[in-house]
Amino acid sequence: MNGVKVSGEQQSVYDFSRCKLCSSHSAHPTYLLRDTTIFVCAACGFHFINHLDIMPSGSPVDDTNTLDRKSWDYIEERLGAHGRDLRKNLRLVSRYHSPAGSNCLDIGAGAGLVPSLLAQAGAVIHGIEPQKIFREYALQRFGILLLRETIDDRYWQHGFAGFFQIVTLWDVLEHVNFPAETLRGVSAVTKPGGWLFLDSPRRDSLFYRICEWSYRLSGGSNSLLLESLYSPRPFRHKQLFTRRQLVKLVEDIGFTVIRLDSSVWKPNHKMVLVCRKPLDAR
Ligand SMILES: [Zn+2]
Repeated sequence: MNGVKVSGEQQSVYDFSRCKLCSSHSAHPTYLLRDTTIFVCAACGFHFINHLDIMPSGSPVDDTNTLDRKSWDYIEERLGAHGRDLRKNLRLVSRYHSPAGSNCLDIGAGAGLVPSLLAQAGAVIHGIEPQKIFREYALQRFGILLLRETIDDRYWQHGFAGFFQIVTLWDVLEHVNFPAETLRGVSAVTKPGGWLFLDSPRRDSLFYRICEWSYRLSGGSNSLLLESLYSPRPFRHKQLFTRRQLVKLVEDIGFTVIRLDSSVWKPNHKMVLVCRKPLDAR
């Protein structure tokens, strides 16, 4: 099975005709963008680009970017823009399970605002963030120690099996190399009866359809709208789910969807899912 980690060698050998969602060899290059190509699976309709991030976990130096004044200011600005949404997400979590005294894991923790808010609410917090500058920021700004080991790592899978009462993935599934594997890793560390909260942009939105029409009607020459939704740059969007695909994925992995908020009308509207691992799950 393909893990979440990708070496330089895998990056060059991964066969993108193999669908990242249903694993059948039915994906075809369909939208040829300037910087990347969107593959579409004929079997399940999944859309993903032909790019994987290299995740050099295990290497003592994982990236060379350092947290200088400029990147600090950039992160502060982003936090200002996204802080309100993240606080709203935290209120959603509290509605289903009190963070106080709970073991919580935030995956793709970014600058550490979510773990920091959960910690303020009394949670015992763990967080994963692959990018070093965000980890440094979280430590300096919030005193939160985030780890770079991805969820498939032995550290989590062996040390935290069935451990977490709350797992959150805000804006993560569209960014990771292999979302199904990520969610399987999440399921393994979630306690039976535990909660999973996540959000992701919706591909079956009206905006996305307009992007596809624009591409087709222009014979591929006007792909600007689609370019805005995917990027081969590190840690950017690699795949987008329809509502049906995302619900099926979390259910196939063993979670029960308790609540789903979504809209096909708003361009940037996300699907927000509240899921639970059954109490009798192993
Ligand atoms: Zn497929």
